[in-house]
Amino acid sequence: MTNNWFADIILPLAVRGRFTYRIPDGILDSVKPGVRVTVPFGGKKLYSAIVCNIHDKPPAVKNVKEIIEVLGAVPTINEAQLKLWLWISEYYLCSEGEVMKAALPSEICLNIYKPRLETFIELAGNFTDDGLNTILDNLARAPRQQEILSTYIRLTGYTFGSEIIRIRKSLLLSEAHSSPNIIEALADKGILSSVSLAVTRLTDSDSYNEPINKLSEAQLIAYGSITRQFKEKDIVLLHGVTSSGKTEIYIHLIEEQLKIGKQVLYMLPEIALTTQIILRLKKHFGTVTGVYHSRFSDPEKVEIWKRVADNDPLTGYRLILGVRSSLFLPFSNLGLIIVDEEHDGSYKQHDPAPRYHARDSAIMLAALHKAKTILGSASPSVESYNNIVNGKYGLTELKERFGLIKLPAIIIANTREAYRKKRMVSHFTPELLQAMDEALGKEEQIILFQNRRGFSPYIECSECGWIPVCIQCAVNLTYHKGISKLVCHYCGYTTGMPSKCENCQSTGMVTRGFGTEKIEDEIKIVFPAARVARMDQDTTRNKNSFNKIIRAFEERRIDILIGTQMISKGLDFENLTVVGILNADNLLNYPDFRAHERSFQLMEQVSGRAGRRQKQGKVVIQTSDPANKIIRMVLRHDYVSMFRMQAEERITFNYPPFCRMVKISIKHKDRALLNSFSDILGRDLKEIFGKRVLGPESPVISQVQLWYIKTILIKIEREKPPAKAKQLIIEAIERLEKEKGASSLKIAIDVDPY
Ligand code: ADP
Ligand code: ZN
Ligand code: ZN
Repeated sequence: MTNNWFADIILPLAVRGRFTYRIPDGILDSVKPGVRVTVPFGGKKLYSAIVCNIHDKPPAVKNVKEIIEVLGAVPTINEAQLKLWLWISEYYLCSEGEVMKAALPSEICLNIYKPRLETFIELAGNFTDDGLNTILDNLARAPRQQEILSTYIRLTGYTFGSEIIRIRKSLLLSEAHSSPNIIEALADKGILSSVSLAVTRLTDSDSYNEPINKLSEAQLIAYGSITRQFKEKDIVLLHGVTSSGKTEIYIHLIEEQLKIGKQVLYMLPEIALTTQIILRLKKHFGTVTGVYHSRFSDPEKVEIWKRVADNDPLTGYRLILGVRSSLFLPFSNLGLIIVDEEHDGSYKQHDPAPRYHARDSAIMLAALHKAKTILGSASPSVESYNNIVNGKYGLTELKERFGLIKLPAIIIANTREAYRKKRMVSHFTPELLQAMDEALGKEEQIILFQNRRGFSPYIECSECGWIPVCIQCAVNLTYHKGISKLVCHYCGYTTGMPSKCENCQSTGMVTRGFGTEKIEDEIKIVFPAARVARMDQDTTRNKNSFNKIIRAFEERRIDILIGTQMISKGLDFENLTVVGILNADNLLNYPDFRAHERSFQLMEQVSGRAGRRQKQGKVVIQTSDPANKIIRMVLRHDYVSMFRMQAEERITFNYPPFCRMVKISIKHKDRALLNSFSDILGRDLKEIFGKRVLGPESPVISQVQLWYIKTILIKIEREKPPAKAKQLIIEAIERLEKEKGASSLKIAIDVDPY
């Protein structure tokens, strides 16, 4: 007679719903919510899964399968995490298994938690000082052994009666310029012995705790305003101009939380930003500070998980600096979440599911812990600022820069006019060149921003206009000069530079437009004496490449840094005085309802890098449309007007945050089949939602990796709870999935698309 206990579990798959398994007698005691178990699923395949709850209600199916075993339960998933997973899956319309896959470092990796071992050397016995001296004398004819032993004594300071100290074998060898077999010889003689010990994979910070800076008067007022509002509101938006000292205020808020034993999560939109902030945090908070992002290896991530999970006051991490996935760490006692640069689009995950927004999910996570959330930005998202207007969030403003340094002066350079008057030098206006010239003369540094990587976004036949496109995607190929190749930025397809036009055989292929690589090339010609570097996806593929470039710029080994949006955010450089935005037009003309908001944020953000200490910086914005409203607003650093204009537009045309948006992308390798399937779904949805449905239509990039794409947008009223509408959308998709031949479709749902 078997027992009657069942467990509902989450499988790491894209299938909706939980699955019920019988719990065999032998493991009944160890199966609890949050533990990992192995279960069979779909034939003979085994999966590791997470137990959510235990009950005695037999499921309706006949042959209920059994859990096979409980996996080493380190770490288990806690209740708040399970609740967050469930919320994300319900809000973003994906399976809990998809959330699980994004949340856990790697299932396999969690199965075997293998510590990293390192060899340490110690004395094999309690030698007296005389005894050791005799041994050293006796080793006179083995000078390399003698050297090892005396180095050991020197490094450890061993004298009789002191504790025997272990030192890393690698350190001993390098200090003694020796080799392992010499240590072995000493071990054979019973003088030294070696032990294997588990060590951390993470670079630990020192435990020095530098006192935190005193806040300025304006900062103190802001700090007081935040703590006061936290008494009534859970979320406060800190709207502070660039370099006003938002980070300093966070540091004070963090200190408060750590003092009362709480954990803090500090989120940033990009890995590149963690480099500088982590140093600022470690200086004050030392060993309790950890970082988390995708560039850690799986074993490293597992170690970070453990250190967040075990609330050990010495080795536990209580302050985590991380990118969006750090939401999923096993916090047990969060007091505060900081979402810095809250407006940043990188907080939204595009692919694969879960397509979650880390800012919005962080607010949920904080609520689960009864913690507070602070959103920080110099140019908040229209969504967040609207929540100030409607009273949901508190607002604290910081309108001056620390040290009362003026916000950078903005110079608008008219490229159309400069071209007409033949005053452009390659892609640079006279205004930009002059500002750069002056800065270089004073040994100050410069950042040039261009949001396209590669040399030129496309090449073209000058005779017939033929443009090489990707063989898998509906996009032009980007020319990368360094590797002398054409590259697709959507699928990575790479091909050689054609010597001739494939259409008319002419040899007149020319490059069009410009990316960071071309700017780097040309700057080197215009300023041959300047030291130039580039920071974009292509130059930062290695784990430490961000650090290297940022450090080189900090140490003034670079005069001019050229980069994509990577260099636009949050970085703090002392000697940077001039920022050039090479082409504001392609930001403003991007076909998206958020394009103007984003352009404003980006220009404000990148401008904010200039002149952060001592004196006012200078920003040159190159555009062919100097009268553009957004550019005029950047000129005056006028966020509120930008917000008002955007809010008005979005109310008129019904866009978020004044409606909710759900985007469905449907893909098929056959264009005709895609058209007919997307029409079926479109008609079905229109029957339910009427005019709220837009499309199906072809997106700007209508084919990627051979898959043709159609999208359908659904706009749902803000005022109604979204759960019902979302359920109807799921049902419509499930009806489509039952159509003959529909199994070869790929369907993606994106809630609150960005
Ligand atoms: P933000 O996060 O608003 O861009 P930061 O916190 O990075 O601003 O501050 C800008 C610069 O001014 C930093 O170099 C920071 O160290 C310095 N700073 C800001 N506030 C203070 C303070 N109260 N005491 C000392 N330095 C400060
Ligand atoms: Zn041609
Ligand atoms: Zn491609």
